[in-house]
Amino acid sequence: MSLAPRRPTRQILLRHPSHPVAVGGDAPITVQSMTTTKTADVEGTLAQIYALHGAGADIVRCTCNEPEAAEGLARIVPRSPVPIVADIHHQYRRALEALEAGVHCLRLNPGNIRKPEHIKAVAQECKDRGVPIRIGVNGGSLDPDLYDKYGGQVTAEAMVESAQRELAFFEEVGFDDVKISVKASSVPLMIEAYRQLSEVTDHPLHLGVTEAGPPPAGLVKATAGMAALLAEGIGDTIRYSLTADPVEEARAGRQLLEALGLRERKGLDLIACPSCGRAEVDVIKIANEAQAALEGRKSPIQVAVMGCVVNGPGEAREADLGIAAGRHRGHLFVKGKVVKVVPEDEMVAALVEWADVIAAEGVAGALDRADAGAAAEAEADRAALLDEKGDDANASEQRVDLIRKGRLAADG
Ligand code: SF4
Repeated sequence: MSLAPRRPTRQILLRHPSHPVAVGGDAPITVQSMTTTKTADVEGTLAQIYALHGAGADIVRCTCNEPEAAEGLARIVPRSPVPIVADIHHQYRRALEALEAGVHCLRLNPGNIRKPEHIKAVAQECKDRGVPIRIGVNGGSLDPDLYDKYGGQVTAEAMVESAQRELAFFEEVGFDDVKISVKASSVPLMIEAYRQLSEVTDHPLHLGVTEAGPPPAGLVKATAGMAALLAEGIGDTIRYSLTADPVEEARAGRQLLEALGLRERKGLDLIACPSCGRAEVDVIKIANEAQAALEGRKSPIQVAVMGCVVNGPGEAREADLGIAAGRHRGHLFVKGKVVKVVPEDEMVAALVEWADVIAAEGVAGALDRADAGAAAEAEADRAALLDEKGDDANASEQRVDLIRKGRLAADG
């Protein structure tokens, strides 16, 4: 027994500097989820992004519904371990601001932004910056004239036409770096819409059952819709929309793909930060060394390699074990609590040693072994680094300034 061959699609790329993610073509089918924090809450949103990534999300979407959210994105994007998609609601200016903030993809709902000149302005800017767009048609917020055209009902044909209209606007400015979704809360309707869409376009498709609701019913509905399509070879990236902690969405997405044999099962799950302006070590080198040293472990363990002690332990606090660099030392942490400080050249060896402790004694056992002075020592390093580099090592404030100036110019 096997699934139908995957439907050929063109490929698009979400250009995260250290973790680019391809969607479509022969790229693995990816898992997406969405943060539930206010995007203006930078630290809370980043912690959730790391938790989602750890649970299996390859791409994370954040809402960009207000000016403060766009400014939040300018501070989040340089520190995110995965590509960030900005979800734009009714105001096209938020899309332009999100692009200024450096996001890796936009999601536009054609039912919400309807002025052709606004749609084309966003597409032109995306084209200039090499940023793809997801056309996110939603059965619940269809363009009213399409709703009328199809007899006051949401039909598969109406959703497909909505996506095609948006594509036509993009084509006018020569932009086709696009993936598409046609989500509905009715499973038969979304299945039909995706089937029809896959007949008329080779753009990659993002699958989902919208507003599936809380588990377990929501999980069943979403799985029914997405699994049916994946078994037919339709779908390049997926998202569970559950009324639950988004970590459950990411986990379910990963499990669905593994169950269908579309993604490999994992033992070691190594996550690493993208290494922004705060990095104190070569994160890529240490992450590769840690991967090689820990690979092949049979028990599931999530290990984080983080470039700085200022934000690392907090951003990756959901990881079982992690290490963050600072002032030529490594801060080893278990579930976000610093347990030991080691010289920089012993970072990987320390990870191996403590992975063994966790395998033998569990997380609680490892926490019991924490060095008495480790937390205070770590805090002193962190404070010294903040003193040396200030609190804007990524020059995010310059992007925020550009976003604000752009807003003023548009208002004036
Ligand atoms: S260097 Fe520090 S702030 Fe930058 S992404 Fe890595 S952990 Fe986050």
